[in-house]
Amino acid sequence: ELNLADTKKWIELFVKKVEANTSELNELDTAIGDGDHGSNMARGMAAVTDALSKKEPADLAELYKTVAFAMIQKVGGASGPLYGTAFLDMSKQAKETTDLAKLVQVGCDGLKRRGQSDVGMKTMIDVWQPVAESLKSDDFSKNVVEDALNATKDMVATKGRASYLEEKSKGHLDPGSQSSAYLFEALLEVLG
Ligand code: ADP
Ligand code: MG
Ligand code: MG
Repeated sequence: ELNLADTKKWIELFVKKVEANTSELNELDTAIGDGDHGSNMARGMAAVTDALSKKEPADLAELYKTVAFAMIQKVGGASGPLYGTAFLDMSKQAKETTDLAKLVQVGCDGLKRRGQSDVGMKTMIDVWQPVAESLKSDDFSKNVVEDALNATKDMVATKGRASYLEEKSKGHLDPGSQSSAYLFEALLEVLG
């Protein structure tokens, strides 16, 4: 469970983390992609901040929808529509339930559908799915996030730009998994 005020704090902390680590995300993406993941995400975060400052969301569904639209409209690349779909599906789900485990799983399912991808393909799903599972079993922690992120290092990418490198994609963290790790580290800080 996360109320509207805390969910807003979650998103604001996510924005801060991405803004503080934009060049790190670009560097990760330079190794196995086209070097723009940090810049893409930072553009999205600026749009999120802008949208939230213009209109205070009335409920959880509206908040997630605001994030989704900012990501879809401003991020571009593969990650924009992916994060956008995850947050849009969470927005729809938030009309039915405020259960965080359920919301994150629905977001993850949205990533899978939109990306035609699943766990083990060295994408952000490799962070979202373990986080969703740990929320369900009530053992969500920093370790869960870190272990999930670090596990992407030895994976061979089979989706996204990194998949063009085949075996050479091994030995590098997945950039989208790193930005998703910031998202869930921000959540941990709010859950306290
Ligand atoms: P682009 O690759 O278009 O430059 P970004 O660099 O912003 O886009 O985002 C790359 C990230 O998107 C990857 O690190 C990965 O986590 C994620 N990604 C790419 N393709 C997929 C997919 N099909 N399913 C899930 N996630 C994906
Ligand atoms: Mg890229
Ligand atoms: Mg790109």
